[in-house]
Amino acid sequence: MKRLITIAILTAMLTIQAVALSYADGLVIYTARKEHLVKPLFDAYTKKTGVEIKYITDKAGPLLARLKAEGKNTPADLLITVDAGNLWHAAKEGLLQPVDSKTLQANVPAHFRDPGDRWFGLSVRARTIVYSSERVKPSDMTTYEDLANPKWKGRLCLRTSKKVYNQSLVGMMIAEHGAKKTERIVRGWVGNLAAKPFSNDTKVMEAISAGLCDLGVVNTYYFGRLLKKKPDLKLALFWPNQKENGVHVNVSGAGVTTHAGNRDEAVRFLEWLSSKEAQATFADANMEYPVNTDVPVHPIVKSWGTFKGNEVNVSRAGENQARAIRLMDRARYK
Ligand code: FE
Repeated sequence: MKRLITIAILTAMLTIQAVALSYADGLVIYTARKEHLVKPLFDAYTKKTGVEIKYITDKAGPLLARLKAEGKNTPADLLITVDAGNLWHAAKEGLLQPVDSKTLQANVPAHFRDPGDRWFGLSVRARTIVYSSERVKPSDMTTYEDLANPKWKGRLCLRTSKKVYNQSLVGMMIAEHGAKKTERIVRGWVGNLAAKPFSNDTKVMEAISAGLCDLGVVNTYYFGRLLKKKPDLKLALFWPNQKENGVHVNVSGAGVTTHAGNRDEAVRFLEWLSSKEAQATFADANMEYPVNTDVPVHPIVKSWGTFKGNEVNVSRAGENQARAIRLMDRARYK
């Protein structure tokens, strides 16, 4: 009985929120991207088109749970989140609908969008090797796989395997090598760790900077943020796997919700986000790469040099996520 009442209250609360948020001519967006990264785009779109945008921000998990609980009553027209793993999950849960758009197909390279057209990458981040420029020479490094080489024993720092970014990295390695070989590699990484895995990428770089370890794996924009604050750090980025499949790349992206009340406008907004006009803002706000290759990268990002990125569809990261989690668990990657 108590449980029934709780469910009734929760449903009522969701309905009230839904009414408060639903928006006849405007758009309602659920975004796992921080407000300061997306608000300038919302404002620019409203200014250009007169379409008003309401939004809520939260982590990807709670937003997906909310969309699922709201079902047909959701006020949300669009979901914005980071990592192909999260986008893949939203699609798998039936929370996003296909969008057949020539504009999106032209602006977003095929490997950065759902093969079923339910989500589209909008900015690109590379998850690459960061190293101490005092203790490591670029010629010492080659690939992610080589980080399992005993020559790096006690010299490697990694972020926790609980983070979706690492699950996606390992998921893409499974897509390439299969689970058996990938597990050997991940075991090698764990054997080379200088310290317990860190809770975030910035801590990995700070550990390298402090001399606890010599190299690690991070998303490029965290490197950009840290170096902006502390330009004197003796850290540099290395682009691995250039003779192989390329650097691990991932996206932040968006999809139109299955029960969008304002589908047409949501599609128009999504198309605009992929356009030349919006892409620089979208990418530069977080020092990422525009997904639209017609748009130049920010000078700071450009200063890190060019690289070949992996062109396998990032949806494979989602498909292999559960396997990646089990694999990392077996390899005792915490
Ligand atoms: Fe991040």
